[in-house]
Amino acid sequence: MKVGVAKETAPGERRVALVPEQLGKLKAAGLEILVEQGAGAGSSIPDAAYSDAGATIVSTVDLYGQSDAILRVQKPTASEISVMKSGQAVLGLLQPLIDPQTAKALADHGVTAISLDAIPRTLSRAQTMDALSSQANVGGYKAVLIAANAYGRYFPLLTTAAGTAKPANVLILGIGVAGLAAIGTAKRLGAVVKAYDVRPETREQAESLGAQFVKLKTTIDATGAGGYARELTPEERAAQQAELNEVIGGMDVIITTAQVPGRKPPLLVTAEAVALMKSGSVIVDMAASALGGNVELSQAGETIESPNGVTIIAPDNLPASMPAGASAFYARNISALLLGMVKDGALNLDFENEVTKATVITKDGAILSEPVKKLLEPAAPAAGGPA
Ligand code: NAD
Repeated sequence: MKVGVAKETAPGERRVALVPEQLGKLKAAGLEILVEQGAGAGSSIPDAAYSDAGATIVSTVDLYGQSDAILRVQKPTASEISVMKSGQAVLGLLQPLIDPQTAKALADHGVTAISLDAIPRTLSRAQTMDALSSQANVGGYKAVLIAANAYGRYFPLLTTAAGTAKPANVLILGIGVAGLAAIGTAKRLGAVVKAYDVRPETREQAESLGAQFVKLKTTIDATGAGGYARELTPEERAAQQAELNEVIGGMDVIITTAQVPGRKPPLLVTAEAVALMKSGSVIVDMAASALGGNVELSQAGETIESPNGVTIIAPDNLPASMPAGASAFYARNISALLLGMVKDGALNLDFENEVTKATVITKDGAILSEPVKKLLEPAAPAAGGPA
């Protein structure tokens, strides 16, 4: 079977789905690797590094024309889908729950779409394939570096002949994968770190990394399904915001990472709370997207300054800003997923396997994922509307 590595075409995307270090394992499993010319350039991996590791460098036309399976980071564009062949497979972070129309277009083309964002995250044998975690890890690390860079003072306590610098007070909101990476990074830079989440089990995880867990007087346990959080009720939300405001005012740096699957990110830092912060403070909203973010004033992809001098940064695609490191992790994830689906050098999809069942979104012209099917159903007519 020929496995192609696509050059990413999404704006600003510098990652690549496979790095040369993974080729040995794939070739040993009987796979032939084709790499689209320049695929690794954004991650500083020259074509020669792939060919030295045993891959063939091909043109875009040959990649789409000859590959049995195409590995990529982001979903293909409409024009890329138009040149894909029936029976061809594509593996990537296809985001079918955010963009079900792309899943439909892949199904219409007869493409087998395998999405890494659908990997069951609580299954321990799938941990090596968990690209959401590996990329969130990069994001959490990078968010702290961006904050430290924008902050006009020191993170650590520093005693010098010219005086003593106080350590920065850093608050991490949301203690999932990105939040834990952010806690670890801020601690390593010497900050005093506090952290908060609505899942009580995160307390121990935060404390084990040296952060102080912020415990609100109002008890909220919003543990949801699959280790994720559920959306808060309006009463819980109001209580949380009021109590968080008291903590936020004393912070120099805030990193927000809170997400609720399938919902708008929860609002955790209101404009009123930002007004309580000192001039020169920095907020990085990792949850910001077109849907909104954790910070009322943040604007996705932009850096703004609040009227009281707080810098609010809402970076886009943080993993792509550390492309070589992020690609190395992603390549391990996608190789592990692919190898689990290959038998005798060919794709062999066993739908009894939980990972296969969860990740194969389309096959033979049909959409297999129930949640995606549901999203594509025509909306029911509004009550009182025409029958
Ligand atoms: P996520 O990106 O969905 O959310 C980030 C964090 O935001 C979560 O910790 C969530 O509880 C928190 N959050 C949501 N609403 C909030 C609110 N109103 N206030 C404060 N915090 C709020 O989460 P994730 O990083 O993708 O992790 C999701 C889960 O998956 C976690 O339980 C994680 O431990 C688990 N996970 C398990 C494995 C494994 O077992 N192999 C691997 C990776 C992740």
